[in-house]
Amino acid sequence: MLRVGGLTRLSASDYPGKLAAVVFCQGCAWRCGYCHNPELQPARGKAELPWTRVVSFLERRRGLLDAVVFSGGEPTLQASLREAMQEVKAMGFLVGLHTAGMVPRRLAEVLPLVDWVGMDVKAPFEEHERVTGARGSARRARASLRLLRASGVACELHTVSRAGSAPGRAPA
Ligand code: SF4
Repeated sequence: MLRVGGLTRLSASDYPGKLAAVVFCQGCAWRCGYCHNPELQPARGKAELPWTRVVSFLERRRGLLDAVVFSGGEPTLQASLREAMQEVKAMGFLVGLHTAGMVPRRLAEVLPLVDWVGMDVKAPFEEHERVTGARGSARRARASLRLLRASGVACELHTVSRAGSAPGRAPA
């Protein structure tokens, strides 16, 4: 089951032009210095929400919300992401994804289910590993970008300034 560290029940700013619920997936393998959601970094959170409760909430929002956005943490770290997206899609919601491009092979697996992607490019690629504190992060982000471009799925790229300021929304 998807490990969920938090839920925003209504957002008008996380999926372009749509009203969405935002599911914050627990766990992130990178350690960006400017991270605004450090409580989502550990693989297990102190205040996790059972996925079944998220599903019950979404059942009651059919017809009221347009989309469900999977954010984080880093959603692509979780093997159950695809199954969770399938469940949400079957309920009639659009599926959004916020990602930093951490796990290209899982991104490839879920892209056929996704209607819109917001990808955070954490830094210029030559500085990427310094910013994320993770070896190989630039390679992973580049590979994800290539997949995203080839997929034709609607997307936005978000960048963070060299000065290291925080992104304008909850980071992926
Ligand atoms: S990738 Fe996102 S969640 Fe992970 S440390 Fe960086 S800003 Fe935080």
